Amino acid sequence: MLVKDKLYIGGRWIAPHGRQTIEVHNAGNGEVMGRIPAGDETDADAAVSAARAAFDGWRETPVEKRAEFLEKISAGLKARADELARTIAQEVGMPLKMSGRIQAGLPIANFANYSRLLKEFSFEEKVGNSLVVREPVGVVVAITPWNYPLHQITLKLAPALAAGCTVVLKPSEIAPFNAFILAEVIESAGLPQGVFNLVTGFGPAVGEALVKHPGVDLVSFTGSTRAGKRISELASQSIKRVALELGGKSASVILDDADLATAVKGTLNGCYLNSGQTCTALTRMLVPESSYQEAARIAAEVAKSFTVGDPLQESSRLGPLSSQAQLERVRSYIKKGLEEGAELVAGGAEPPQGVPAGGYYVQPTVFGRVKNSMTIAQEEIFGPVLSIIPYKDEEDAVRIANDTVYGLAGAVWSKDEARAQRVARRIRAGQVDVNGGAFNMNAPFGGFKQSGHGREAGRYGLEEFLEYKSLQLKG
Ligand code: NAD
Repeated sequence: MLVKDKLYIGGRWIAPHGRQTIEVHNAGNGEVMGRIPAGDETDADAAVSAARAAFDGWRETPVEKRAEFLEKISAGLKARADELARTIAQEVGMPLKMSGRIQAGLPIANFANYSRLLKEFSFEEKVGNSLVVREPVGVVVAITPWNYPLHQITLKLAPALAAGCTVVLKPSEIAPFNAFILAEVIESAGLPQGVFNLVTGFGPAVGEALVKHPGVDLVSFTGSTRAGKRISELASQSIKRVALELGGKSASVILDDADLATAVKGTLNGCYLNSGQTCTALTRMLVPESSYQEAARIAAEVAKSFTVGDPLQESSRLGPLSSQAQLERVRSYIKKGLEEGAELVAGGAEPPQGVPAGGYYVQPTVFGRVKNSMTIAQEEIFGPVLSIIPYKDEEDAVRIANDTVYGLAGAVWSKDEARAQRVARRIRAGQVDVNGGAFNMNAPFGGFKQSGHGREAGRYGLEEFLEYKSLQLKG
């Protein structure tokens, strides 16, 4: 049982003012795996004050020294990689091996990467008679979700620290233990007091208190579009900068000359990653009318190869969902798909066989003959549920791909690379994979439309935490 009863504020572990606690459940069996404090407005205020007090010192800390701290944090996380992988596998439900590679591996790599990027980054340039300098924006509040918990934290914290900002982190209450490990690593790395602060609790309570706080300069939020709207409203009252990384309903466009088996398999892998709890999940598979039958047959076969099971068991390819609420939500969407007349190609709303009791398991599901106007094609399900949507021609495919309020990601498949790139350019989304192109941690990551308006990763992520200042020079 993991019991955390302190918050990390101003370089010390202190008892929270808020008296309530939050139970955290193990996704694999539903048992309570630990407790964390539910911080309140007073805790939020203490954390912001600590970050404010530390700001001047941190922004003046030489770049090389800041880079050294980032390197130390990366090494500290690496030393605890197995513990991180196991903790997140239980909090989120991602199978252990994958959790090691992605959930622990990406943060380790990103902290090291920002150390390198920081040393290369140019903080000023001459423009005519002006010296344009880039300064840290100030005190940053980072509010993060549970699906890739430490990765989402890292994409805010590493560049914010690199930029010279101080940070208050409010991680997800559903997967918070990885953030406590991070705080311990940061403490061991000897980061100056108040540069990083950890406050846990519920979004509408401590989260909103942080967003409204007059001592905060920027709120960087990753999570649902619903919460993103609320945060924008609150932050607008004091004209705070806001960076939003929100939901998605991404389309995988399989063109008529694509290798169908490769494209369908690639799409399902992209849809089912982390049990579909991935913001960039390829949840709508667009296929030419003439290939529909074959595409559905391949999809059913691939879906069945995703063995559902305990995330800690070697044989599991698809772990559980992260929570009871998530399980109910995904099942209700599957029922909705049936009600609205989609064809069930694989899976369904009934629980899968042979999985541990109490865990939040759902069958890998594929719907066929989906119309883009159906609820399952419009709303983010956040579970392993694929919708196959037939289209008439290329023009129709682009129209359907863009017929969504979201614009986070997409994919295009074609034997003709130039054609694939042409279609990819027409998709209104922040990142589009062409013929299964790999994820790149230095490429900008973020959304169009209601998927948000921030950019994370690489130097683009660092720029989010900087302000421009022009010094008009005389001579
Ligand atoms: P969520 O919006 O429920 O919660 C995210 C975080 O915001 C949590 O820490 C929560 O406590 C906090 N929060 C909730 N309401 C708040 C409020 N009113 N004020 C302040 N804070 C508040 O999202 P979730 O269920 O944790 O995560 C899933 C969502 O995140 C999905 O929609 C997914 O697409 C999105 N997501 C987006 C990206 C991206 O980069 N675009 C990445 C991962 C997840």
